[in-house]
Amino acid sequence: MTKPELLAPAGNFEKLQAALIYGADAVYFGGKNFSLRAYGDNFTREEILQAVDYTHAFGKKIYAAVNVFAHNADIDTLADYLTFLDGAGVDAVLVSDLGVLALVKELTNLKIHISTQANVTNWRAAKLFSDLGASRIVLARELTCAEIADIKRLCAAELEIFIHGAMCISYSGRCWLSKFLTGRDANQGACTHSCRWKYHLVEETRPSEFFPVGEDERGSYVMNSKDLCLLPYLDKIIQSGVTSLKIEGRMKSVNYVAGVVKVYRAAIDACFDGDFAVRDEWLAELDKVAHRPYTTGFFLSDGKPTEIHTAAKPSRSSDFLGIVRAFDGATMTATIEQRGKFEIGERVDFLQPKGRTFSQTIASMRDADGLKISAAPHAQQVVTIPVDEPVEVWSLMRDV
Ligand code: SF4
Repeated sequence: MTKPELLAPAGNFEKLQAALIYGADAVYFGGKNFSLRAYGDNFTREEILQAVDYTHAFGKKIYAAVNVFAHNADIDTLADYLTFLDGAGVDAVLVSDLGVLALVKELTNLKIHISTQANVTNWRAAKLFSDLGASRIVLARELTCAEIADIKRLCAAELEIFIHGAMCISYSGRCWLSKFLTGRDANQGACTHSCRWKYHLVEETRPSEFFPVGEDERGSYVMNSKDLCLLPYLDKIIQSGVTSLKIEGRMKSVNYVAGVVKVYRAAIDACFDGDFAVRDEWLAELDKVAHRPYTTGFFLSDGKPTEIHTAAKPSRSSDFLGIVRAFDGATMTATIEQRGKFEIGERVDFLQPKGRTFSQTIASMRDADGLKISAAPHAQQVVTIPVDEPVEVWSLMRDV
């Protein structure tokens, strides 16, 4: 059995670096236009060229999301952008719209992956997209394990599934709620996440009175979905023969990307080493990054989701404080680029790209000029602290 690809979100260049350094086999990103994350950082053309070079230097793959539902006015600009992506050397483009698919085929030699936004839920649809030239299908999230295995058996194309991250309460993002309430269209990458808002009931003759739709003391979140986590079922997923395992989250932090990628890297490798069992340290790491309560979504169900609704807002059990930029073994000190405020006496841990996570107390601190300081309050301030163990460059420091 071939080891599946671990595919991670790259919301910007730093997150792309984190994904690759922490063990992803491939990354996906959006350009400034035509990807369904219009409010993410996204990549300029210059940054795309840099990202392709960086990723290929690792021997890994990079895919461009071009998964908007295009309108006539988009076609000329899209044609130019697709030609650019082809020249830049990205390994595939993710598309949803048949017009965009036709343009990719006509103008480029790019591989085509069908985005989850196209809602492929059966083998006939998968086969049709394959016949139209797609080499890979990202399946809709609303599928059970048995359905995924059946599609694999009946369709020759590569399959990709989501294994971790936020979910839509609507059908894999084909949703009009945000556009209806705010004018910002989820199908053009501008979703306001209106499903997460707090709603009240209003009687038409009393427009200023908001009646609570009770769920708990904080209100009602009737359309708020839990986050997907299929970690416990990785062995089952791998047996189904899917090619690529995708982590959601182009809008999430560097800490999220690094932590989640590291857990799934270790879990996939454990499956192939023959000793897969969910480890407490993996669950603890998935609890540290921002998330809502986890669910297996539709994966185990009989077409019905297993309790995907939640009233909970995203939470995390630790804050991201800084990135290790250098380590000096002679003095046992680490140079940290600050991302969150920290001070002497604080208990922190270090998530390392390869090594184990360890914790310690910050005993002292010096600024970039070597002067003693008690806290690092400024954004991206560079400080040096003593460390209890050798620490890898690109480790992330978090509070505990
Ligand atoms: S409003 Fe919610 S359900 Fe609709 S597309 Fe946005 S995140 Fe998904």
